Amino acid sequence: MRKPKPFAKPLYFTRPLLPDLNEYNRRLSQIWKSQWLSNFGKQHQELEKKLKIYLGHEQLVVMNNGTQALVLACKALELTGEVITTPFTFPATVHALSWNNLTPVFCDIDPETLTLDPAKIRAAITDKTSAIMGVHVYGIPCHVKEIARIAKEYKLKVIYDAAHAFGTQIDGTPIAAFGDITMFSFHPTKLFHTGEGGGLACRSRAIFKQATLLRNFGIVDEETVSSIGINAKLGEMQAALGIETLKLVTTERKKRKILFDHYQKRLAQIPGISLILTPQNVVPSYQYCVIRVDKKKYGKSRDQLHSLFREHNVITRKYFQPLCSNYTHYKELPSAKIENLPIANAAVKEVLVLPFYGTLSLQTVDRVCDMIEYWATV
Ligand SMILES: *Cc1c(COP(=O)(O)O)cnc(C)c1O
Repeated sequence: MRKPKPFAKPLYFTRPLLPDLNEYNRRLSQIWKSQWLSNFGKQHQELEKKLKIYLGHEQLVVMNNGTQALVLACKALELTGEVITTPFTFPATVHALSWNNLTPVFCDIDPETLTLDPAKIRAAITDKTSAIMGVHVYGIPCHVKEIARIAKEYKLKVIYDAAHAFGTQIDGTPIAAFGDITMFSFHPTKLFHTGEGGGLACRSRAIFKQATLLRNFGIVDEETVSSIGINAKLGEMQAALGIETLKLVTTERKKRKILFDHYQKRLAQIPGISLILTPQNVVPSYQYCVIRVDKKKYGKSRDQLHSLFREHNVITRKYFQPLCSNYTHYKELPSAKIENLPIANAAVKEVLVLPFYGTLSLQTVDRVCDMIEYWATV
């Protein structure tokens, strides 16, 4: 096997979907003519309508970003005390709790799915617990049925962070159908994006109404302000970008499926490297392509692989290292102890997000796989 050559230009782990600039300009002209730049104008209305169809959820509230949406999800559900959550996530998940003066209670993850382990959720419940906040990490759904059962038994609310799960379905049911509220992020690193943006899918009509009010300062009408809302509005320019980007998502997912299947075929040959797969009954979002590196079998650690990639101009990501439970602000919590989270602390040393986006060629995937293959031998 030949020694791999570095890429001439950086090969990133993701690239944003960019719609046709002429189409986007057409929408900008409409906005200019309307002189309506925010506050639920025509673009916003059209985007929200189209997203409701794509996500298969009627009670959807589009917002300015996913983090703000999560903060408002806690607020809309009037959570108190403690919320059980995963350390294996992006900072936003846990910070959203802190912004609501809620105490995160870290719970360990399932070694296979890397989502909350239901058996350990039960053990983490106290009389202060008000909710469970799960993350469909890499688009792999949480154990939604078991979590629903636990929530019912203990009268807890359920929030899902579906930042990675745009378009995911479980047994044909859209992901937004599970939990009291599901959050989506429309950040450019996400499959679908609006530049910056996010949204909440709400199960109950009352919570949907509350989230809608909270997005706009709690303003009911010209004379009435009913709650301590905030500005979480998405502007017209971003909504317009979203409408054009949404047109590309179905094709993008098809392209990513082909790339993913190719990665799978190639990586299956390499001992110690395993691709994280979505379960058979799940329609994947194709948000990320993530491998786990078994140092004993592969001969090199994930960190070594990450550095070698860097030396060869391949920019991979160690999502989600460090674990949220190891941040300065959370590590003193009793639930943050490493002994409480052995699976998460071990898994986070093994995962690596590989280059994955529709415009990637199969040849490039082959070059990346050749590198992984070669480094196993030296
Ligand atoms: C991206 C992301 C968020 C935050 O969304 P923003 O729209 O960037 O605020 C939250 N949780 C997870 C798991 C994410 O990946």
